[in-house]
Amino acid sequence: MTTTNPAPAEFASLSPRTGAELARYPVHDGEQVRAAVRDAGEAAAWWDGLGFAGRRTRLGAWKKVLVAQLDRVARVVADETGKPFDDARLEVVLAIDHLDWASSHAEKVLKRRSVSPGMLMGNQAASVGYRPLGVVGVIGPWNYPIFTPMGSIVYALAAGNTVVFKPSELTPGVGHELARTLAEAVPEVGRYPLLTVLTGFGPTGAELCRAPGIGKIAFTGSAATGRRVMSACAENLVPVLMECGGKDPLIVDGDADLDAAADAAVWGGMSNAGQTCVGVERVYVVESVAGRFLEKVRETASRLQVGGAAHEGDLGPMTMPAQTDVVRRHVVDALERGGRAVVGGAESVPAEGGGISPVVLTDVPEDSVAVTEETFGPLVVINRVPDADEAVRRANATGYGLGATVFSAKRGAELAQQLRCGMVSINGVISFAGIPALPFGGVGESGFGRIHGAEGLREFARTQSIARQRFALPIAVTSFRRTARGMSTLLGLVRTRHGR
Ligand code: NAD
Repeated sequence: MTTTNPAPAEFASLSPRTGAELARYPVHDGEQVRAAVRDAGEAAAWWDGLGFAGRRTRLGAWKKVLVAQLDRVARVVADETGKPFDDARLEVVLAIDHLDWASSHAEKVLKRRSVSPGMLMGNQAASVGYRPLGVVGVIGPWNYPIFTPMGSIVYALAAGNTVVFKPSELTPGVGHELARTLAEAVPEVGRYPLLTVLTGFGPTGAELCRAPGIGKIAFTGSAATGRRVMSACAENLVPVLMECGGKDPLIVDGDADLDAAADAAVWGGMSNAGQTCVGVERVYVVESVAGRFLEKVRETASRLQVGGAAHEGDLGPMTMPAQTDVVRRHVVDALERGGRAVVGGAESVPAEGGGISPVVLTDVPEDSVAVTEETFGPLVVINRVPDADEAVRRANATGYGLGATVFSAKRGAELAQQLRCGMVSINGVISFAGIPALPFGGVGESGFGRIHGAEGLREFARTQSIARQRFALPIAVTSFRRTARGMSTLLGLVRTRHGR
């Protein structure tokens, strides 16, 4: 009797604007995931052997292909997420800049460096090196499907690792674009898979966490999924990097430039339809300027157009239709509990998914879900505070701690340092994400570990310390041949050096 293998399960990537099917992708199973990690492990030895210069040349070639095909790649991002085309282009631009930084700084940051051996071990030459982990698994979200995973992918590659990438099930085509452009730039990729894309849902991601040979998992997504990823990784003690959600505050001090602050609050809160991990979700404005600030926000936000199937608009539709229910729950709860609508209201959130018009609420109780939970939609809550110190206290009162913004003429740096979060922009919004040298990541429910910058390169390397004996000391204390006289000389030295 002959049996036929069942066709591999597939899934469709859909346009959030039209609902049309864009393409179909396989759902990779455990066996395929393990094979991909195995192959990536073999490629990692070749990639490591190329050294910093060989990798830099090849990553530079990838950068050029991405620049040449920027619009083609951005089109896939816009099609799969529903975001306006120029927003998608901006995302690709930022990713290209990070690719450039990571590949051109890897050697400086990761090459072996000498450190002082100290007084007691003066006969040693001491050095610290940063060796690749082998295969890095990257699990990505859909909201910035190029910019966010590239924050891990390019830093991991530049550090000498190969990557197996599981994009979100909502943006599998974007993952394929990354692998396709890299293969076009680096001919050896045919033999040595540097970036393998595996498509599917949560279980495919979970298989990646458990695959033998995986050196680290870089996860970006919600904290709830992050916990599942951590528990899968715990089985084999696989280290994890967690880039999770946020509830980022923006503080407007009494001496702030109100036009700039209002523009930042609206862009930070509404761009990408509010589906930004470091988007502005809460604003704390000092009472003395609150009226004028609210009016400026109202003016700007009420002009924004929501796009649909036929036109682009300033905001696209929600990429994940189910998120609409979360936004509605937050808006309705805030209004029922005494919040006031400045722009829009419950009617801005359509019953059947699609685009949500901007909603700005004020005087919302601090314990309502619109203030305590990530909304991930075009809703901004603006609450008044007596002064900027109270704003800091409230900003720090959630379990999240990803990014923050401060608008203040005089106290920007001082307030920024008091915020419990990973990144702060002063008198600008989300600026830190576009500066490749600045590490990116959060604390608490927002996760741990850092992408971007020197820390982002070291995140994908194992630190290796080497102590090399240059000559034997006349007094050997780490030997069974140790003498009482040797010990007393050592103790004398320590008392002279540290006891006074
Ligand atoms: P999500 O948590 O639903 O999914 C993220 C990824 O995890 C997807 O690829 C998904 O398939 C995969 N996954 C699901 N279950 C899994 C499992 N059990 N094991 C392994 N992988 C699994 O998140 P999302 O809805 O795609 O993204 C939105 C969230 O991401 C928001 O909370 C947002 O704030 C956050 N985010 C954070 C950052 C950051 O840098 N901190 C950046 C972008 C988005």
